[in-house]
Amino acid sequence: MTILVTNDDGILAEGLWVLANELKKIAHVVVVAPDREQSAIGTAVTLRQPLRVRRVRPVVPEVDTYSVKGTPSDCVILALSTLIEDKIGMVISGINQGANLGDDVFISGTVAAALQGYFRGLHALAISVEVVSSHYLDTAAGLATQLVKWLDSSAVANNVFLNVNLPDLPLAEIKGVKVTRLASQTHIDTAREGNDGKGKYYWLVRHRTDKSTDNQTDMWAIGQGYISITPLHADLFNRSVPPIPGNLSSDLLQGLRQNQR
Ligand code: MN
Repeated sequence: MTILVTNDDGILAEGLWVLANELKKIAHVVVVAPDREQSAIGTAVTLRQPLRVRRVRPVVPEVDTYSVKGTPSDCVILALSTLIEDKIGMVISGINQGANLGDDVFISGTVAAALQGYFRGLHALAISVEVVSSHYLDTAAGLATQLVKWLDSSAVANNVFLNVNLPDLPLAEIKGVKVTRLASQTHIDTAREGNDGKGKYYWLVRHRTDKSTDNQTDMWAIGQGYISITPLHADLFNRSVPPIPGNLSSDLLQGLRQNQR
């Protein structure tokens, strides 16, 4: 099997290469990754300028490696549609250096890259370690390998999209693995004002809220020292909201028609 490895921390990120080096032991690995850090770029795709691609020397020997001046989503779209001749069986994005928990999945380039694989019917895995300067990338790479083996087994019928996070702990101190759901309201985003002489500017600042007390969530699991595996899909439809009632529906239409007169 050929595995596409990508990330949003950029082609030189340590997490990417620890992952590629480990996956290489069980599969054929190709790397297509952004030429620079693209964290928090979310699901962005580049539609209004050409995408420049360079074949580059891999950090890990014998891994076909392409550097893309674009977003993580661009990388996966390119790889799956034209760049890679081999049939790709799975998309693995990471190892992101920094957690992607709860609401993070909406802005994470790591998760977005995996999403593009999932959109195309492939198993897709986004994997992150809790802190940027983690000492436990090897543990995450080992876990990715285990998950690839499981996903590749006949036990998994449909394509699966997983968001995986590891706590900042040595393997011996990790309490276990929890299948979780996404925590909500995980961040408070604010803007801090500054002035550099050229004028006023703003920095957006993310504050992580207190660790979730709901013991079903990814944030809780990480806070308690568990590995978190959150199965995702791309359907944002909210099933818990009642349908728009008939009278509102006819009122809306009537209001529209009255406005047009
Ligand atoms: Mn990142």
